[in-house]
Amino acid sequence: MKTIQVSVVTPDGPVFEGNAKMVSAKAKSGELGVLPGHIPLVAPLTISAVRVHDVDGKTQYVAVSGGFIEVRPEKVTILAEAAEVAGDIEVDRARAAKERAEKRLAGNKQDNVDATRAEFALKRAINRIDIAAKR
Ligand code: ATP
Repeated sequence: MKTIQVSVVTPDGPVFEGNAKMVSAKAKSGELGVLPGHIPLVAPLTISAVRVHDVDGKTQYVAVSGGFIEVRPEKVTILAEAAEVAGDIEVDRARAAKERAEKRLAGNKQDNVDATRAEFALKRAINRIDIAAKR
């Protein structure tokens, strides 16, 4: 079976390396399904799950906080500011981050900069909580 190499990298170092029969990711322009031999592309990602479908039929979930996907026929590279494989997500930490962000959003309606930051923090936290439930 043909496979494609997958690498998820953050500024702190590699988070995931593996081989897949398919990789799914949520680009800002829509859902991407990448099979071995895919045409090259680069696309920005949303705060979402990258799903690595491995050869024995299992799916591994990686939480990505934005970043970019670079596809080449034999390799998918994801460059993200932060990324965690499902099993490494600290759920209590994500819940606490979610609560903090919700409080900030409820209390601080005038300050747009803080509100935007809180909205992104909330999205990251919800994404982590959802993905941790899939491990
Ligand atoms: P927090 O407020 O809890 O730090 P955050 O969304 O602001 O959350 P980020 O700035 O996205 O955190 O990430 C900072 C670093 O902490 C990254 O290395 C990221 O992988 C890691 N990280 C953040 N939240 C979690 C979590 N719930 N479980 C595991 N690692 C996490």
